[in-house]
Amino acid sequence: MDGNNQNSLPQFNVHYTWIYLTERCNLQCEYCFYRHRSGGRGISQEAVERLFCLFDRHQTYPLTLIFSGGEAFLVKNRMFQIMSEARRRLQKTSLHVQTNGLLIDKSDIKTLLDLHVSLEFGIDGLFEQTQRHRWGLKATSFSRLIDNIQRCLQSGVSCGCTMTVHPSEVEYMEDGLRFLQSIGLHQVDITPAAFEPWTPPKVEDFKRAYLSIIRQKDLRRLLYTQEDIKKVRFGWLDLSLHPPGYLLGGDPFLCLPEEKRKEFSLWNEKTGLLKKDMYNYYKEGLRDIWREEERLSYREQVCRNFELVNRMMGKAYINTWAINDMLRYQCRVHQKLWSYMSVSENTGHA
Ligand code: SF4
Repeated sequence: MDGNNQNSLPQFNVHYTWIYLTERCNLQCEYCFYRHRSGGRGISQEAVERLFCLFDRHQTYPLTLIFSGGEAFLVKNRMFQIMSEARRRLQKTSLHVQTNGLLIDKSDIKTLLDLHVSLEFGIDGLFEQTQRHRWGLKATSFSRLIDNIQRCLQSGVSCGCTMTVHPSEVEYMEDGLRFLQSIGLHQVDITPAAFEPWTPPKVEDFKRAYLSIIRQKDLRRLLYTQEDIKKVRFGWLDLSLHPPGYLLGGDPFLCLPEEKRKEFSLWNEKTGLLKKDMYNYYKEGLRDIWREEERLSYREQVCRNFELVNRMMGKAYINTWAINDMLRYQCRVHQKLWSYMSVSENTGHA
């Protein structure tokens, strides 16, 4: 599929956009979702320029531009350069970085503050649980990570974290969350590791542990739940830009092998023009998967995007039976929590 007929531009709205700046990383996490990295490639200046032009051409701009990798701070000069350009051209877009947090120094913090960038650290709780699956993390680098998180928080950088849960660590979720609270983090996205060996009993353990956390007032305040209240409208597409310059439909596509990313790339890498037939292929797939729904919560949208990946791959490439079951459970309890909170506010009961 490589039709490039741009006689009429497809009407689309972009929701979030990820820029995967580099394939390189200073860690080698067991559960890394970026499963097929072929070395040290990065995003080219041309690809980023084409992305900004794509937004202009279609007059649609992401709510948030998310910088990720590999490890984004390995190419920090390049990242800050793109952020400055984004600040100039995408004035209503928030900027956000996903990072393992090991390479952030004082001058980076100043730049992050100047550019109003928020951070999302990857830390899975206590040292033992984190280092077991984040291969390459040592006691000294873990301490440095904690120092960096606290320095960013004290300087006023908006910080949250993703706590990835491996099936063998489910029993430590609560302790891990308490630890993250103790170091000052107040927004934690607990995410089950997608490609790890979940079994039905482990999935149930995850749900039980999550429910127990939600039932504790001091802990549930930390959880990242807002996205499940806001709804994404059908037709709003997430985008992701991958080295060397592939454009795909959102972050679930990060796990695909190289030849598939090339095949499913939404644009012609040389011209930056959308491939109309590939765009329609995504849209038809999404229409089937969204069924009659007009709006979905974000976590539900992520589940449907995983299903889209499986559909496009022609097989159960992502174990959606487990991962979507857990994500949907989180989504349901978050929605119940928010409806309970709004009832409490209206009645005055805490
Ligand atoms: S720090 Fe992130 S990009 Fe690096 S190996 Fe771990 S999960 Fe992958």
